[in-house]
Formats: sequence, C-alpha cells, structure tokens
Amino acid sequence: MPTITVIGAGMAGCSLGYLLDQKGYDVTIVEKDQIGGLLREIEFDSGYHCDSAPHLLFYDEEEEAIVGELFSEFTDLAEHEFYAATYPRGDLSDPHHYPVSKANIDKWDDADQIRDELDAAPGKKPEKFFEDYMLNQVGPTLYERYNKHYTKKHWGIDPQRITGDWFDFKISFPESEQEFFGGSADYPDDKYTDILEEMVSGCEVVFDGAVGLETEGSTIRALRTESGERIESDLFVSTIDPSILVDTEETLNYRSMIIHGMHVKASERLFPDHVDWGYFPNHYEFTRITDYEFTPQSIPDDEYILTIEFPCFLDDDIWSKPKEWFDQYMMDFFEEQGIEASLVASEARRAPRAYPLPVTEEIEKFERINGELSSYENMFNLGRVSTYEYIWIKDIVQQAYETADEISEKVDILA
Ligand SMILES: Cc1cc2nc3c(=O)[nH]c(=O)nc-3n(C[C@H](O)[C@H](O)[C@H](O)COP(=O)(O)OP(=O)(O)OC[C@H]3O[C@@H](n4cnc5c(N)ncnc54)[C@H](O)[C@@H]3O)c2cc1C
Repeated sequence: MPTITVIGAGMAGCSLGYLLDQKGYDVTIVEKDQIGGLLREIEFDSGYHCDSAPHLLFYDEEEEAIVGELFSEFTDLAEHEFYAATYPRGDLSDPHHYPVSKANIDKWDDADQIRDELDAAPGKKPEKFFEDYMLNQVGPTLYERYNKHYTKKHWGIDPQRITGDWFDFKISFPESEQEFFGGSADYPDDKYTDILEEMVSGCEVVFDGAVGLETEGSTIRALRTESGERIESDLFVSTIDPSILVDTEETLNYRSMIIHGMHVKASERLFPDHVDWGYFPNHYEFTRITDYEFTPQSIPDDEYILTIEFPCFLDDDIWSKPKEWFDQYMMDFFEEQGIEASLVASEARRAPRAYPLPVTEEIEKFERINGELSSYENMFNLGRVSTYEYIWIKDIVQQAYETADEISEKVDILA
C-alpha cells in the first residue's frame, strides 16, 4: 500500500486521515500545533469549555447526509434551533433580529424613509461586490446601520472590494425573526477535539511544522519540517497555506482572529433567553459575543461561558495584546452595559489564517501559488486554509470524501 502524508490536523486533515486509514493506507499526519485546528476548544481552569467561536453543523440532511453520517460514527448529534441578535446601537437592551429582518425597521425613528429606500431598491440579484449586493436588497440606511461597519470590522477591507459567492448563503432578509441560516443545526454531544482525535487514532501523528518540499521534476519526494526531519511518502495532502510549501517571495493574506474565551459570574444574561449570540456592527473592537448555554455541560445559573471575537491582521497591535487586555476590555464593556460581572477564568485564543480574504487580487495571488503546488503529480489539497475558500465543516467533509476517492484513483493508476 502507498504511504500518504497529510499536512495539518484540523477538520480537513483529520477527516481525510480517517477515510484514508479506513481504506487501508499508511497515513502520517504532520501537525505543528495540536489536533483540532480552528475546531479546538478553549478549556478553562474552572473545568468548563467552549468552542473557539461557535461551531455548528449546518448541512442539508438529504443532499449532504454524509456529513451527519461521518460525525455520527464518533458522537451523538443533537438538533438545536440557534438564534442570533444584532446590536446596531451597541446597547444590549436594544436587540434587533439577525438575520436582519424587515421587522427591525420599526425600531428606527426614520422608518418611513427606510421603507421608501426599500421600495426603490431593485432587490436581490447577483452582483460581483458585497456592497452592491446589499444595497440592491436593503437600500443605503439599513446597509449602513447593520452591514457596512460590521463587514469592514470583520474583514479589515473596504466592503466595496469584497467579492465572492458566499453572500447568498450568509445573507437573507426575512420579514420577521428567523433562526440562524433559516433552519436548525446539529451540535455534537462530544468535544470536536475528542472527535478529531478519535478520527486519527489509526494514523501516525507527528507534531512538527512543515516548512517546504523536496522535489524531483514534477514529483514530491519528501516534506521538510521545522525540526529538520525529512518525511518521505508516495502521496502528499496539504490542508495549510500553500505559500509555506512552495518557493515563492509572495505571502498570502488571511484575516486572523483573537477569540477571547471568558467564564464570568454576572448579574444577568447578555441576550434574550432564546438568543445564542449577538453581533456588534458598531464602535466595539469585537464583532460577536456567544453564550455557550447550548453546550452539553451544566453551567450554574448566574455564570456564563462566553467567547468574544476580535478580528485582525497578524501585524495589527491587537494580535499581540496579552489576555489581561481583553479581560479589561470586556469588563469595561459589561460595566457600560450596566451588568455586574466578575471574572472566573479566561483565555485569549489566537486563530491565525481564520478567513481567506474575499478580494480579487488575493484570490489571484492564491491561484498563482497554488498552481505551482498542484503542478506536482503526487500532491492533493483540501480545507479552508489550503483552498483559500470561505467554507464550512460540511464542505470540508464532502471535500474529504472526494479527495479520498481521487487518491484511490491515483493509486490504481500508479499500481
Ligand atoms: C470564528 C469562526 C467561526 C466558525 N463557525 C463555523 C460554524 O459554525 N460552522 C461551520 O461549519 N464552520 C465554522 N467555521 C469554519 C470552520 O472552523 C473551518 O472551516 C474548519 O475548522 C477549517 O478546518 P481546516 O482543517 O481546513 O483548517 P484548520 O482548522 O485551520 O486546520 C489547519 C491545521 O494545520 C495546522 N498547520 C498550519 N500550518 C502548519 C504547518 N506549517 N505544518 C503543520 N501543520 C500546520 C494548524 O495548526 C491546524 O491544526 C468557523 C470559522 C471561524 C474562524
């Protein structure tokens, strides 16, 4: 049987590693940090845990049934109706529906003008850029209040430059309050890290960082690692930034994120009872706060497990701020909102390369670099970082099945 080296032990590397191991291949996974990638939980000293920002399993139970089937091999899945709110005035006592609904309009003094703008707007139609797509649907006032600043804060890019095919999936404009993404989602009974560790229990996992490739013509002979090792293999799969592996002067830009996990005692819940997280399209440095009441652990009534998401680039000041800075920022926020809170435990989790940038020049740069990597006949790639696509767990699971099939075909050709 051929040997296969998979680089990265996030959702992409672990699900593919599992499928290849099931097919009887000899699989080595090379991971520079810990198993789990973006799915690795924050574990508090207080004994509680939460996701690094909420990770829900959205998938179509008919067309994407394979996603539920794979997870069900490792855990029970519970269905949950997730609701979100948005706080355009930055005031927790003034929640608006998210997805942004037409009913939100009544919360504004200039509701008549907003309705006139809506009547004049051409409606939902395909557009290349995010700003045009939104303006067509909601007109200038709603766009400004709910989307423009939030989008700028999330991506760190002028929304006029943002492109992609994710708008339709992410943005809807219902009449009234609607579940997040318009339907219920699954959430696993076990931690993602435990699930992923079980997936790769039949693979060899090497904790080392990949730094480059040793090649001969159009074939990769070995992976070079930070500790100076050479890992030889017949086939290679990358789930990481391709610019790390090829010889290039160019670097790929991603949006990164500090996910600040907090266990707090507080005088009240931040959101209405049925709401799981809130968006902040205003002056706060964070974009979203999540309350992990929905996770299968019993949290005392006056205590809350939260994550707060601070998007940034790796050279922004905020990336290197200590945990205490985020603690203080949030304690000030609670005070401003009239909530009495005390900190039980916290962790500032750094998530580099959390989002590929949806900007034409960056996508073209990715295509140049990735073109070089995929010109090697024994290299495959999948996952969010490596394909530079804004994709979800469900997409990655499907990519893992497709890549496992492509690898089997390749093995048959080589045999
Ligand atoms: C804030 C946020 C919220 C999200 N919410 C959801 C959600 O609700 N539902 C959903 O379906 N999806 C969600 N996602 C998307 C989901 O997290 C990702 O699609 C998925 O986890 C990506 O998995 P991956 O394996 O492609 O990448 P990663 O998880 O980034 O894994 C890559 C791995 O490679 C390792 N690595 C990097 N460089 C090297 C190197 N040089 N050598 C060796 N190893 C290396 C990393 O340490 C990491 O373990 C969310 C993402 C974010 C950022």
